[in-house]
Amino acid sequence: MAQAKQAVLRHAGLLLVVSGPSGVGKGTLIAGVLARHPEVRVSVSCTTRAPRRGEVNGRDYHFVTLEEFQRLRDAGELLEWAQIHGDLYYGTPRRPVEEALARGEDMILEIDYQGARAVRTILGDRSVLVFVAPPTWGTLLERLQMRHTERPEEVAARLESAGREIANMGLYDYVVVNDDLQRATDELEAVLLAERCTARRFDWRTFRDRLLADAEAASSGGGQNAIA
Ligand code: ADP
Ligand code: 5GP
Repeated sequence: MAQAKQAVLRHAGLLLVVSGPSGVGKGTLIAGVLARHPEVRVSVSCTTRAPRRGEVNGRDYHFVTLEEFQRLRDAGELLEWAQIHGDLYYGTPRRPVEEALARGEDMILEIDYQGARAVRTILGDRSVLVFVAPPTWGTLLERLQMRHTERPEEVAARLESAGREIANMGLYDYVVVNDDLQRATDELEAVLLAERCTARRFDWRTFRDRLLADAEAASSGGGQNAIA
């Protein structure tokens, strides 16, 4: 039964775009959703920023030089890109996104509001935009400082970017407030699950027609008992 449902209700892949200020907990929430949904793919961005301790090239980001970034951008290999935190560049490699969508797989993109806007323009309602907000500004400050991954001037650049991210909250389809981690993870997962069920994302016509054909076959073959 579950298999039959899978075959009929196969949905078109969606892009779950997750944005929010640096340090708000996007990476933590995404890791929580991935632990529950290993079938979901994650886009690995290119960036000109240096790796943080513990970050792995190719897993967390593709760490590239400015020249390499410009080459990728100019060759059309980035779906979108943005300049963030002053002088750093970040971009989404185009091909993995296109391949995931073509296979009907869902993919998460952790990108800023400029990228979210570009993805909405390019992919329309195949994209779902989620903004992760801190419960208070003070909480954001605390998390960013507690993470101990940036120098004070880097923290300052991220707080400036955070103001711009928050000012653009109106772009998004959903807002998840990351106060309680468990609840916020549940909410991000709920967005994924609900969006998978929206009628426009699966072939409901085939499903409807099959149900109606079954109903007709059952009624012509053996009356109401056959349907029961
Ligand atoms: P981002 O990916 O948005 O930059 P991170 O996922 O790196 O943020 O989280 C920043 C810091 O906040 C990390 O130290 C993380 O463990 C912590 N954190 C994330 N969510 C919560 C939460 N709900 N409550 C308390 N701390 C959190
Ligand atoms: P950092 O991790 O350096 O503190 O912040 C990275 C910022 O860049 C976050 O706001 C993150 O969402 C954004 N970002 C990461 N990758 C991409 C990308 O490929 N494109 C865009 N537009 N933003 C990105």
